[in-house]
Amino acid sequence: MEHFQIAIDGPSGSGKSTLARSVARTLGILYLDTGAMYRACGLKALDLGIDPKDEPRISSMLENLRLDILFEQGSQRVILDGEDVTERIRMPGVSVAASDISSLRPVRERMVQMQRQIAGKRNVVLDGRDIGSYVLPSAPFKFFLTADPEERAKRRLEEMAVRGVIDLTFEAVLADLKYRDHQDSTRSFAPLVRTPDAIVIDTTSNTPEETLAQLLSYLPEEVRSGSGSGDAS
Ligand code: C5P
Repeated sequence: MEHFQIAIDGPSGSGKSTLARSVARTLGILYLDTGAMYRACGLKALDLGIDPKDEPRISSMLENLRLDILFEQGSQRVILDGEDVTERIRMPGVSVAASDISSLRPVRERMVQMQRQIAGKRNVVLDGRDIGSYVLPSAPFKFFLTADPEERAKRRLEEMAVRGVIDLTFEAVLADLKYRDHQDSTRSFAPLVRTPDAIVIDTTSNTPEETLAQLLSYLPEEVRSGSGSGDAS
């Protein structure tokens, strides 16, 4: 196998990024968090005071948007117009803006082009909503994560607390998740869908280690042992 791609899709808070990060570390391959790219677009719209659903204005915003993804020691930095926004894209408000802006076709086309370019050169794991269905439809390994909405909201809340955001309520986080779930799965272009060839993992009552072990158990020995052409750079 020359290069391989692992696609991990699923709704917000299903555990994709935690899993993708550990898969990348275990296999010594690159992890691309595609949600961060839509978050950067959403952040730019918020900074400029543009409605993230206003397609004509967002299309012209895209003409002046410079997005660079840097990979440093296993972690990804997001550089928007020369500014490192890796932390800022995680702030409350950005997730809904990301979901709104990501339903616009010109935004998706631009992001998907970058994602395919990054994934084409090496062994990678990508997480998102449309990786197995649209970005890398011929990826040899596809997974679809699910978890109960309440459990997903609980995880999001804990994650935000770790980032120092403590003024969020469980209800507000749950409402944000449900809004995004609905919008992400009903948009007309490249919605969140489970493809028939994706392996479903329900992470509701799993520890992160259990989910990782489950995913690894579906990979062939040559991939697990790193004898595929691994390259984490
Ligand atoms: O994964 P994360 O929650 O950071 O993604 C933020 C938003 O970006 C999602 O709610 C979704 O609308 C959008 N997204 C997408 N396609 C992807 C990754 C994320 O539409 N591949």
